[in-house]
Amino acid sequence: MFNLILFGPPGSGKGTQSDKLVDKYGLVHLSTGNLLRAEIANKTPLGMEAKNFIDKGQLVPDEVVIGMIDSSLEHHKDANGFLFDGFPRTLAQAEALDKLLTLKNSEAALVLILDVDEEELIRRLVHRGKTSGRSDDSDENVQRKRQDIYKNDTFPVAAYYQKQKKLVQVDGMGEVNQVFERLSNAIDKKI
Ligand code: AMP
Repeated sequence: MFNLILFGPPGSGKGTQSDKLVDKYGLVHLSTGNLLRAEIANKTPLGMEAKNFIDKGQLVPDEVVIGMIDSSLEHHKDANGFLFDGFPRTLAQAEALDKLLTLKNSEAALVLILDVDEEELIRRLVHRGKTSGRSDDSDENVQRKRQDIYKNDTFPVAAYYQKQKKLVQVDGMGEVNQVFERLSNAIDKKI
């Protein structure tokens, strides 16, 4: 199994690049953001609880997202590998993922972190706010909150993977296809 984590701040292009990467490498895409939005669309109790956090730009509690990842891994028992997008976002989530993958005699092979200038992130998010239909994109205060949470809670997860020598930084500036090529090159070196 080849498991990949795509890491980076809101607006760095994780969703766009994930769609292309899962196609190219035959991985199962696990985006906690997408899974949570599906729960909200289906008006499940989990979705209703998560919406309160998402709309404020806060993180959904660890046990909720870890539980979702656990059942998704179980659901795709025959997968060649997974691409984790937007997960893990806290150290507790990173440790839980290590445990879940160890139980499957597997591990995260590579953690790619997309590096994008802050000005460019804001520019992309303002644009996305007009087109995505996501309630957490259209409010500038919520966007700012999400960037703060990334810096405080999520960025330290990069150091966790750095210690495991799994972290590779990729330039996320420029055209979608250019970034995709850089990501593919980093993956091809590893497989
Ligand atoms: P995303 O689509 O990855 O930008 O996620 C949208 C929102 O869903 C985030 O701002 C969080 O509120 C919530 N969310 C997604 N993934 C996670 C996660 N791994 N841990 C906690 N909250 C999450």
